[in-house]
Amino acid sequence: MPGLYIVATPIGNLGDITLRAVDVLRRCSMIACEDTRVTGKLLKHLGVSTRMQRYDDHASEEQRARVIDAARNEPVALVSDAGTPRISDPGYRLVRDARENGVDVFTVPGACAAIAGLTLAGLPNDRFLFAGFLPVKDKARGDVLEELGSVAATLVFYETGPRLVRSLGAIASLWPEREIAVARELTKMHEECRTGSATELVEHFSVHPPKGEIVLLIGPPVASASTADPDELLRAALAEASPSKAAGKVAKATGLDRQTLYARAVELKAQ
Ligand code: SAM
Repeated sequence: MPGLYIVATPIGNLGDITLRAVDVLRRCSMIACEDTRVTGKLLKHLGVSTRMQRYDDHASEEQRARVIDAARNEPVALVSDAGTPRISDPGYRLVRDARENGVDVFTVPGACAAIAGLTLAGLPNDRFLFAGFLPVKDKARGDVLEELGSVAATLVFYETGPRLVRSLGAIASLWPEREIAVARELTKMHEECRTGSATELVEHFSVHPPKGEIVLLIGPPVASASTADPDELLRAALAEASPSKAAGKVAKATGLDRQTLYARAVELKAQ
């Protein structure tokens, strides 16, 4: 049928593509893709010779209109370099404009790094919140983490190797007690999922700089103010910070009196 088909492609292992995705890619009249070299390699592997057309979020109105016009009469696929288009990938305006212009939009789901990371991390995932890439700048990153910190869910971010240790450092100073997972190179030869506290992971990845693509997951807040053991929270915070800072952090998290917490933090530190 004519329309715009949002087709997921592998995130590493080329076997991770659905039969339906291959069928759609083979039978559509055009494949809109981020990078024709990247998609060209996949198509070659699949033995698909469909015409490609470059499309990303910097595309002009005219380029977008051309894709939509084609999809009015023929099946047209949208793919990204890897994984599910529209998940931290181009296609937002294309899908909206297609629908507004009466063009049918279909999804052909498949691999997605965020979901693959969640399956591997072993963190609670009855509730999760995907928040794309963390900002690069320290202040903006800290603001996002603070904003999402109280959400009772596992937080899922996309991350890059060069930025990982800095992000983990920011997480360690905010939530030394939360369980973290770093899922790396998913479905590829060097797939790895390492879990621990942010501090432990900073120690590891400072010595072993991470290569490749990364999903960073932060487990839900450890306990609410009503159920948390202040001593446990203080001990975790003291691993990272001075008694004064640790008391401030726990006071903020629990609503308990800062002076009392400070006195206890000094005692715990001396033990
Ligand atoms: N749309 C894609 C998806 O469905 O996963 C994500 C595109 S986003 C531009 C690319 C980011 O996804 C990478 O920087 C990395 O954080 C994550 N990613 C993609 N492939 C991955 C993999 N094989 N292992 C770990 N993370 C991956």
